[in-house]
Amino acid sequence: MRPEILFPLFADVSQLSGIGPRYAKLIEKAAGPQIVDLLWHLPSGMVDRRFSPTVADAPDGMIATLTVTTMRHEPGRGRAPYRVICADETGEIELVYFHAKGDWLEKLLPHGQKRVISGKVERFRGKAQMPHPDHVVPLEEADSVRIVEPTHPSTDGLHQRTIRKAIEGALARVPVLDEWINATLVQARGWPAWGAAVKAVHHPQNRLEMEPDSLPRQRLAYDEILANQLALALVRARMKKQKGRVIKGDGRLRDAILKNLPFSLTGAQRTALSEIEGDMAAPNRMLRLLQGDVGSGKTLVALVTMANAIECGAQAALMAPTEILARQHFATIEPLARAVGIRCEILTGRDKGKTRSTILGRIAEGTAQIVVGTHALFQEEVEFRDLAVAVIDEQHRFGVHQRMVLGQKGQGVDILVMTATPIPRTLVMTAYGDLDVSRLTEKPPGRQPIDTRVVSNDRLMDVIDGIARRMDSGAKVYWVCPLVEESEVLDVAAAEERASTLRERFGDRVGLIHGRMKGPEKDKMMASFKEGSVDLLVATTVIEVGVDVPDATVMVIEHAERFGLAQLHQLRGRIGRGDKASTCLLVYAAPLSETGRARLSVMRDSEDGFGIAEEDLKLRGAGEVLGTRQSGLPTFRMADAAAHNDLFEVARDDARLLLNQDPELEGARGKAVRTLLYLFERDAAVRYLRGA
Ligand code: ADP
Ligand code: MG
Repeated sequence: MRPEILFPLFADVSQLSGIGPRYAKLIEKAAGPQIVDLLWHLPSGMVDRRFSPTVADAPDGMIATLTVTTMRHEPGRGRAPYRVICADETGEIELVYFHAKGDWLEKLLPHGQKRVISGKVERFRGKAQMPHPDHVVPLEEADSVRIVEPTHPSTDGLHQRTIRKAIEGALARVPVLDEWINATLVQARGWPAWGAAVKAVHHPQNRLEMEPDSLPRQRLAYDEILANQLALALVRARMKKQKGRVIKGDGRLRDAILKNLPFSLTGAQRTALSEIEGDMAAPNRMLRLLQGDVGSGKTLVALVTMANAIECGAQAALMAPTEILARQHFATIEPLARAVGIRCEILTGRDKGKTRSTILGRIAEGTAQIVVGTHALFQEEVEFRDLAVAVIDEQHRFGVHQRMVLGQKGQGVDILVMTATPIPRTLVMTAYGDLDVSRLTEKPPGRQPIDTRVVSNDRLMDVIDGIARRMDSGAKVYWVCPLVEESEVLDVAAAEERASTLRERFGDRVGLIHGRMKGPEKDKMMASFKEGSVDLLVATTVIEVGVDVPDATVMVIEHAERFGLAQLHQLRGRIGRGDKASTCLLVYAAPLSETGRARLSVMRDSEDGFGIAEEDLKLRGAGEVLGTRQSGLPTFRMADAAAHNDLFEVARDDARLLLNQDPELEGARGKAVRTLLYLFERDAAVRYLRGA
């Protein structure tokens, strides 16, 4: 249950005085539905209204705050604006209002009375004007105007005035909360208390105070990161509390598998395997992330990991996010496993009726030693005889909770998560902070580098001529269509249109695959691309992960500027898998922004997924690195993965330490920390505590 002290912040924004339903909607759009969202709605700029010249001295184009007396009203005729003529002892200034109501203006600026006005002064043929002053207040309220006023990201129809008022209303509800950050850290960094920090970030006095490294902003960023790391640490603590088991195979299956391969393991694979074997041999559970670029050889590491469990007489599961991927893993693993006498099964949502119950039976008896599958493996009726290790591929589409469900399918199941998404270190920590990390930083030898080129879409015809030549000499080509919006339907429409234009030229050699096709249809299409008559495959990002067609040596990516670099890198990883030279054409819509240009150059110049990810983070910031859709990464409102980079590690250590000392968060700091989790809505994690 949310602590009562936070109730005022978790009310609807319409509860604020002066915010009716219409404004509430707009505020919801700009900041969010709850009052607490306004606290996180930081200023993006500022206006200095402290400059208070006389009318005669107010320069053209400057924001000024003037003290004037209303001389007369001149209501506009027809489409002419309404003017209010005001003056001080040095001269006159016209306040100009379009579409204004006269009676409202009469009240605002009564004849003969002094008012403090603030806004941009314009000089027009020697006359001073102020169109739509931002503020008009009586003399007594002058101090409320003559300030540095922050401005906020807004939306249409929502005035800065209204947002400010709502934010001030939210700030007035900020309760005094006990400190949740460790006192030494607060002192060492010179951070203000939470309440003071929230107020400070909304009242910056200069630009420096708006920077992410200003002390109040740092503090709030740390709060949010700490909440994130605590939530993960709670999951980790709970997983680790369940006793693991000692899995230490004799190596006979591993050695047999490796002996059958035409190559030997890379150094990186060897290191990862020894880390994994170390974890499995220890009496606690393994919770490890295996991060490796596309083609770095994760699948083989997974197989050897599973063989280790099988050597001990137990079972292993490998779960993939999609049907295509599950089948592909099965196709890779099964022959290697069979050759050394390991029995594999595959279970997906497609298996129904009798087949399904046969498979379930084999899993329950233990005759299925490796079980490859999709989400179907989560289901209750799937019972293993003795599951010892679960490998989860492309985890970020699943999430922490599913990780736990699969872990509960056996006694102290060891978990290995694999991801090919090149996520920067900091972001790895935010999404997988509960896991230990192994990285495959080295690619298997003998890969041809991919020749990547950046091409403007004015040259689309040349691109098509180019691929025609490559197709004639036997190449298979991927043509990836852009993300149109956050909508799969629109993506598909774009892909269909592209496929039909390409068919005008290439006829039946063009195929189309997208996420709205049914499983068997997709498989059929992939098969015709791999071995059949389709040489040019138009695709949405469904091909992003895993798909393996060694003859595919050309990839065209349309509107490359719209993709995250991590995504481009993964897409590109679909080619260059065989021993032939490959080409990737990044087609962009001109004109490119400067960042856009820089990002595509990073892609052109590098094939190192980790390096690309770090560059992307620097260029664009965390929010966009992976493309928001499907990224499944936690989002931050106060923290910026690039600017607050150093705080993540501090928070992770702090969170783990705190949970060591106070596992149920019952001490004074523990209680304060619970409030923090609720404040940042990471409270799902609180459920892992006793009595919560
Ligand atoms: P990932 O799963 O990381 O994308 P894979 O495991 O699919 O990579 O490996 C990609 C290709 O590289 C496969 O064809 C695999 O057989 C091959 N491979 C894996 N490890 C090695 C190695 N050590 N040396 C040479 N080739 C390897
Ligand atoms: Mg793989």
